Amino acid sequence: MSFSADSSSYAPNQTHDPKLTSWVDSANLPEADFPIQNLPYGVFATANGGHICVAIGNSVLDLHAAASFGLLDELDGRDGLEELDGCDELGERVLNACGEVTLNSLMALGPDAWSALRRQLQRLLGSRADANLRQLVGDCVLPQAGLQMLLPAHIGDYTDFYASVFHATNVGRMFRPENPLLPNYKYIPIGYHGRASSIVVSGTPVRRPSGQTRDSAEQPPEFGPSKRLDYELEIGCFVGQGNALGEPIPLAKAETRIFGVCILNDWSARDMQTWEYQPLGPFLAKNFASSISPWVVTMEALAPFRVPAFARPEGDPAPLPYLSDANNHDHGGINLTVELWLSSAKMRQENIPALRLSRGNLRDLYWTLAQMLAHHASNGCNLRPGDLLGSGTVSGEAKDSRGCLLELTWRGTEPLALPTGETRKFLQDGDEVTIRAYAESEGFRRIGCGECRGLILPAL
Ligand code: CA
Repeated sequence: MSFSADSSSYAPNQTHDPKLTSWVDSANLPEADFPIQNLPYGVFATANGGHICVAIGNSVLDLHAAASFGLLDELDGRDGLEELDGCDELGERVLNACGEVTLNSLMALGPDAWSALRRQLQRLLGSRADANLRQLVGDCVLPQAGLQMLLPAHIGDYTDFYASVFHATNVGRMFRPENPLLPNYKYIPIGYHGRASSIVVSGTPVRRPSGQTRDSAEQPPEFGPSKRLDYELEIGCFVGQGNALGEPIPLAKAETRIFGVCILNDWSARDMQTWEYQPLGPFLAKNFASSISPWVVTMEALAPFRVPAFARPEGDPAPLPYLSDANNHDHGGINLTVELWLSSAKMRQENIPALRLSRGNLRDLYWTLAQMLAHHASNGCNLRPGDLLGSGTVSGEAKDSRGCLLELTWRGTEPLALPTGETRKFLQDGDEVTIRAYAESEGFRRIGCGECRGLILPAL
C-alpha cells in the first residue's frame, strides 16, 4: 500500500494490517479499544511529573523508560526520508520528545517522526518480537489499572467549533424558530475561543457552576447554581506542527498539522448561556470545565476510517475555494462512532448499568477537521503544538444521535426517563456522564478512543 507525506492521514499502510497482533494478549481481544493498530498516546503521573506512554490492550508502554533503555534508538525513515531529513537527527528528536512530561514536543515533530515512532512501537509490541526483545520491552509495560492519567498536553489555546449542522439547526430552532440557521453557517466553520485553563482529564469531578441567570424577561437576573447544566458530546483535535503568526495553513496541508483526536465534553450551563451569550458569544456558561479523554488517537491510526466529507444537500453553497479541495472532499470525514452514557447516583446505588442516551458519528459534521483548522489559520492566527480544537456537539439527523440534553429533551420540554423512575431535563448532582468513541470498518481492526468521564458535584 502506498504512503506519502501529503496524504499521510488518508492512506492505510502496513501498520493497519488487521492480521498484526501483539504479545500483550489483551490487545488482541476483538472488542479492545487499543489493539496494536491503534497505539494512542497519553501521559501518566509519576513522582516527578509524568511519563509519556502509549496504550496497548489493558496496559501501557512507558516511552520514557523505553527511550532510556535504548528501545527507541533505531527509528527508520521510510523511503526517501533519509534525504529529506537525517534519520539520526529525526531519531534524536523523537527520543528527546519521548522523555518529556507532555506530548507537545512529539506533536511538534510532524508526520514523518510520528510514523517512524509508530512503526518502531509496532516492532516492540508486535507478536514478531523475539523473547529477548519481549523481556526488555516487558520491563517498560505497566497495567493501566494502576495509573493516574494526566492531561496529555499543555494546551495553550482551546477553540470550540459548531460543526454539526443538525445541532446548529436544532438549537437555532429553539431560540429563533423563524430563522434557525444564520446565513453565515454554510460558509464559515463557526467557532469561539474557549478557555484552556479549565480543561481537565477524564475522571476529574465537575463542580456545578454558579452564575447569572434570568428566568423571566419581566424579572431581574439572579446569581446562583445553574439549574440547566448540560454536557456536549464532542471530539477534540490536537494541533501538531503550528504556523508562524501571519502565515495561513492551506487546506491541502491542514491534515498534516493535526496530531490526533480525543474525546471532549464541553460542559455547558444553559441558563447562564441564554442570558449571557449575546452579543459576544459563550463565556462563563462554558469555561468552568471541559473534560477530555487521556488518550490521543493519531490521525495515522484513523486512516482506515476516512470517508468523504459530509455531502451537502442540493442547494447548499459550495465551500469557498480556500476551504475546498478534492482530497478533503473525498477523504475529509472520519467514520467515528460516538456514544454517550448517563448514570445517576440512584442508578449506581441500585447497580443499574449506565443508560446510553445517544449514538452519533463524526462523519455527520458539516465541516471537516481540516477545514476547521485551515479556517482558524486563514487570517494568519498562529496555532501551536498542543492547541485543542473542539468539533462542536456531534449531533446527527436522528433523534437518538443528538449530542446534548438541550436537544434531547428539547430545552427540558421532553424529559428523559431513567430506569429508576427518575427523569432528566438537565443534569442533576451525582450524575456521571461517560462518552466513548470507536471506529470500525470492514477489513480493518476496530480501534477506540477509550472514554471520557465526569461526575457532577453540587455547587459550592
Ligand atoms: Ca461546544
